Amino acid sequence: MPNALITGASSGIGAAFAHRFAASGCNLVLVARDKVRLEASADELRARYGVQVEVMAADLIDPAECGRVEERLSSATAPVDILINNAGFGLPAPFPHSAIDDEERMLDLLVRAPLRLTHAAIPGMTARGKGAILNVSSVAALLPTGTYGAAKAWLTAFSESLRVDLAPHGVKVLALCPGFTRTEFQKRAGMDVSSLPEWAWLDANRVVEQAVKDLSRNRPVSITGLQYKAYAFAVRHVPRALSAKMARSRKPRQ
Ligand code: NAP
Repeated sequence: MPNALITGASSGIGAAFAHRFAASGCNLVLVARDKVRLEASADELRARYGVQVEVMAADLIDPAECGRVEERLSSATAPVDILINNAGFGLPAPFPHSAIDDEERMLDLLVRAPLRLTHAAIPGMTARGKGAILNVSSVAALLPTGTYGAAKAWLTAFSESLRVDLAPHGVKVLALCPGFTRTEFQKRAGMDVSSLPEWAWLDANRVVEQAVKDLSRNRPVSITGLQYKAYAFAVRHVPRALSAKMARSRKPRQ
């Protein structure tokens, strides 16, 4: 049975990935900070799907704790076949009104952690000639949308270049760019999303299902929902100066 390691597995999109992969018979390594919550999810997944589930409580912003997860990814005895870099958060205030330490923490989680975890996972995957890396970016990466969008743009570009480099070694790489998805993300970021129309919202299970489909089709980027596919198409065709202005007039981030 393949092994998947999911960061940010305690809620939202990460938890939806855990259910989806467990349902298809995958053993799991669940990573997030909240150990109690992870253990509860692990019990449920083991009972429901009969798979093996390891729990790693780790704050990926902390280099030593991230290092433990890197070690797990390098294991030759219990190899990880699928890495899902999903853990993330947004900030309540835009740069430069945000606290600089919070900005740095966000950058560490959205950029440094996936960089290090991916670096740790690749040697084993390429040696085995198979594997997959799924990076949860955002539609916010498509336009200049502050530091969160800039970090996600890094993750999308990183994924797309890595995809080309790793293809000859049998390793697939996919960047997911979800739009507004009903999870704990908005509350944790202190975002007021009360004015968002119903059509703007996605369900985490749908985002994951689309990603699984796009991975099997070997697509570089996964975008869920016609509304966000149309948005991505428009962004590619509107002059950059205009789209940048449009982006700055938008309200909440995703
Ligand atoms: P969520 O429900 O808030 O989940 C975030 C996950 O990240 C939680 O499991 C959280 O668990 C974990 N996490 C946070 N800080 C961490 C840290 N320092 N170390 C380890 N784990 C940490 O939000 P979500 O929407 O599922 O977010 C998943 C990804 O989707 C993020 O990268 C986000 O940027 C991206 N995204 C979300 C949306 C959206 O609208 N929801 C749209 C586009 C992209 P603990 O608190 O237990 O650590």
